[in-house]
Amino acid sequence: MNFGPLDKFYTSFAARDIFTKVGLKFIYIISVFLFLLFPGCGKSGESVNSAPVYVTIVSHNETDQRYQRYDTFDGYLQHREALLRICDLINKYNATWDLQTDWRFLVAARQFETEDITNSTDGLNILQYLQSKGVQIDPHSHEKNGYNYADIAYLIESLGVRPSGVVGGFLFDPPINPQNWERFRSPLKGSMYPDWIWQADILWGAATLGHQGQDDIASGIWRPKDIYNFYEDDSESIPYIGGADAINGIVGLRSILSDISQQQTPRGQIYTATPLIVELNFVENGQSEYDNLEAILQELDIYAQNGQIVWASLNQMRDVWTSQYNSSPNIYIPY
Ligand SMILES: [Zn+2]
Repeated sequence: MNFGPLDKFYTSFAARDIFTKVGLKFIYIISVFLFLLFPGCGKSGESVNSAPVYVTIVSHNETDQRYQRYDTFDGYLQHREALLRICDLINKYNATWDLQTDWRFLVAARQFETEDITNSTDGLNILQYLQSKGVQIDPHSHEKNGYNYADIAYLIESLGVRPSGVVGGFLFDPPINPQNWERFRSPLKGSMYPDWIWQADILWGAATLGHQGQDDIASGIWRPKDIYNFYEDDSESIPYIGGADAINGIVGLRSILSDISQQQTPRGQIYTATPLIVELNFVENGQSEYDNLEAILQELDIYAQNGQIVWASLNQMRDVWTSQYNSSPNIYIPY
């Protein structure tokens, strides 16, 4: 889950404090503005349906030592089985899932998805099967071991599945780092597969080295201007979808829903949350991990039935933001 290279020097930076203050000031200005325009606005008991939070479950697999289990047939099959069970659970609650995969699982799938195996999934390999069940497949890359984001997209494509244009996790702090997310705004050439070109169109998961600093916790969608001005919108850049503290499950989402119900959030803006699950935990922890996920899905199902959340993949969120919110930038810090 560590989004960036681990061997680089990291300087902490109190982004959350700064942006919380900026966010509060922004809310205050907007509130005053709305009050001047519509006296009484904000007290009118509008339905919660007016500001749903768009939600998808995001999952990760990684490439470090723990994931060497993919190199063996049995290890791969265990992981495959876990993905199928997660899929059943997510579909049971009509939820959405963005599966974000790094290279090691994909290389294993290319090796082990033979006819014997695909017989159990309608003759489809695991990625094709999950996609047929509505799962969106996003590249996720630490850009190590010679694989960059375009290479991951190539590996997905080679399994007969069209990869999304989502950058599923990247290093944004310190601003100057080897990954340099600004390069995802241009077509990216593969490193292992230099004939392959991939164009990103969504950024997700802005993180710090080893998650040791202040990972982004914003909700909403905007277009980060550049590496030094991540929280400034620039219509020339590509959209970033905030996970609302994805790494901490639905804590951020609960906070936003509370703020919305207390009418403390700017209106007419898009809100997003993408609770993160770690695929390997399901293999290692067994039933308890499925129980945890089901508890989360049950809570989210209530919100969905109330109209407080809407399930949408990352691509669908971007499309809704463009078509229904006029690409209006929103950066909302949940706490
Ligand atoms: Zn990762």
